[in-house]
Amino acid sequence: MAESPFDIVIGLEVHARLLTESKIFCPCANRFGEEPNSLVCPVCLGMPGVLPVLNHRAVDLAVRAALALDGRIRPVSVFARKNYFYPDLPKGYQISQFDRPFCEGGAVPLPDGSKIELIRIHLEEDAGKLLHPEGDDGHSLVDLNRCGDPLIEIVTAPVITSPEEAYLFLVGLKEILLYAGVSDCNMEEGSLRCDANLSLRPRGETKLGTKTELKNLNSFSAVRAALRWEATRQERTLLDGKKVNHETLLWNAETKEASPMRTKEEAHDYRYFPEPDLPPLVIDPSRIDSIRATLPELPGPKRERFMKEYGVRRYDAEVLTSSAELADYYEKVAARFPDRALAAAFLTGTFLRYLSEDDTAPGLAPVGPGALARLLSLVRDETISLSAAKKVFDVLWKEGGEPAEVVDRLALRQISDEGEVEKLVVSVIDENAPQVEQFLGGKEKVFGFLVGAAMKKSGGRANPSVLGEALRAALEKRRGGRRA
Ligand SMILES: [Zn+2]
Repeated sequence: MAESPFDIVIGLEVHARLLTESKIFCPCANRFGEEPNSLVCPVCLGMPGVLPVLNHRAVDLAVRAALALDGRIRPVSVFARKNYFYPDLPKGYQISQFDRPFCEGGAVPLPDGSKIELIRIHLEEDAGKLLHPEGDDGHSLVDLNRCGDPLIEIVTAPVITSPEEAYLFLVGLKEILLYAGVSDCNMEEGSLRCDANLSLRPRGETKLGTKTELKNLNSFSAVRAALRWEATRQERTLLDGKKVNHETLLWNAETKEASPMRTKEEAHDYRYFPEPDLPPLVIDPSRIDSIRATLPELPGPKRERFMKEYGVRRYDAEVLTSSAELADYYEKVAARFPDRALAAAFLTGTFLRYLSEDDTAPGLAPVGPGALARLLSLVRDETISLSAAKKVFDVLWKEGGEPAEVVDRLALRQISDEGEVEKLVVSVIDENAPQVEQFLGGKEKVFGFLVGAAMKKSGGRANPSVLGEALRAALEKRRGGRRA
């Protein structure tokens, strides 16, 4: 694509559902996937005369998220009513935070060392969900189980400069929230939702252009695709001499296009005012300190430590620390096995493939870190080859057992005995006379063919370095014999 005359400016708003037992203002369970309208009470149904009671566990988790994201906690924040009508919101307003959110600032680090600054994080309650059953004459149904679930909304500054950067931000944010244990971040269940806004401005200009908002982004790759699509659309509009309208667009993941939803209501249309039924939220410093004390090592620092402590490459460190559980698994293997690079390569390759095929977590893997360390030790001391180790791993994964025992059962021990390898070499030389002639005639490339033939004859078990040496010695001896 030709260089664009415009700079892209993106801002994101991410909602994360907090991992509490109950909802934010009532004792109903905060759970996904139950019978519709089975997790409701007068409070979350917005009956007249009820009063919300704040769930302090939700505040603790929100503070935990804010600290993990390096935000500043406001000692006193205020809940506010955000007034709007929608059938999934029986009260006619959502309790949120407006001009005094509990957290300001914060940032998410990107892999290249830069940071995406946050404007704020606030607490709010979720609304219900409308269902549109197919073939139901245009009827819609409402499920209010989600009404009152605790959310944090994380708002970035308009500082993201490309769809790819938006994607990396979301990956980094999700990692931090998972590490901190504040949300399960399950997008399919709506535990993590993202809205995006995008505008263009002439390169070098500082004033922001007119933005559009994108909704219905159901995966990180949908966010990236929708932003790419919208940047292209706005660029064409501006190059045609037209104006971009301030509007909300709905992304369609199937057609890969967005279409206008409704004209944007201005913020003041919500007629925010302080929630009269809740006192200001006071978070005292000792509570912040005790939450901070329980935060685990976060992905960024862990990545740096892995590179320093285990000498793994940046890419491997990024993969290994992409989840706290995988990082723990790696550290348990590394504690028992000295070749950290081999352990990293095996984990980021074979191990991760088996995990994703079985859709399981490292902590539930049928091959534990101890067994994997014993298996890799057999590779390191040249008892088996790496490809044999993968066969053994497959058996351990599916049937269990002890690595050395499986190696014997499958007869996978490498042939390192020189006498045995020499016998193999002699028979390969006998059976491949034309190729041997070519090699002796100066065609060095044929050596690889002969190694391959010998390896095949050994069933892949010949020790490659012993085999290589023996074969070369035998061929040179032959060459010498000719000259004599
Ligand atoms: Zn309730």
